[in-house]
Amino acid sequence: MELKYKRILLKMSGEAFKANNDIYDKSKLANFASQVIALAKEGLQIGIVIGGGNIWRGKLADTLELDRVDADYMGMLATIMNALAFEATIHKLGYDKVVVYSALEIKTVTSAYNYRFAREKLDAGYITIFAGGTGFSYFTTDTGATIRAIEIQADALLMAKNGTKGVYDSDPNTNKDAKFLAEISHLEVLQRDLKVMDGTAAALARDAAVTIEVFDMNGDDNLIKVLHNELESTIIK
Ligand code: UDP
Repeated sequence: MELKYKRILLKMSGEAFKANNDIYDKSKLANFASQVIALAKEGLQIGIVIGGGNIWRGKLADTLELDRVDADYMGMLATIMNALAFEATIHKLGYDKVVVYSALEIKTVTSAYNYRFAREKLDAGYITIFAGGTGFSYFTTDTGATIRAIEIQADALLMAKNGTKGVYDSDPNTNKDAKFLAEISHLEVLQRDLKVMDGTAAALARDAAVTIEVFDMNGDDNLIKVLHNELESTIIK
């Protein structure tokens, strides 16, 4: 089966990497990295945004009585750690065409973000990781992922979930009659406040008409499957 898209932006939450008692699960890192490598070898152009929730979230500012802005920059730094962990895992698996761009300048281990250079790297077959979110406090990596999807002209923004196969009309964990939605519009996501991404990201995706595909990253080769149209998912367009 052919690839569904030519160029994607994959958004994974930091939680996707988490072990029970640790910020990283070695096997999860290796599993996701090997799927991404296999797809890159098949010719898919892949941009990736990883969250930071396995390490730190800005919301934790309140409990520690920190300034929210400081806490948000800490969160952005957490996303850079995750990007480096994923890059290192990709290298370890023997794939060298990978680059990390950061919205916050950290020159020794990342390249400063530039959308033109990023597009060139994608054309050249590099797995391109975008770290540091938007580079601004009070935003999230969902918004960062939407912005990067727009700027690299991705065919779709792939929102990876952990254990949910897509979007429902209500919470399937609390409502056993929750209805699965295979295709919906951006407007419905916003009006019905469906839990796909935060409101800022959803509004931006609607304005820029970004096609979003929501799928479950947990499961054997689910990323590979969704890109070959072999996995149930929700399309937002
Ligand atoms: N963050 C931020 N600006 C951004 C992206 C992230 O301030 O553009 C901070 C924010 O504090 C957030 C944390 O980084 O809580 C981790 O990112 P996020 O919560 O999006 O990660 P995820 O939940 O997807 O793992």
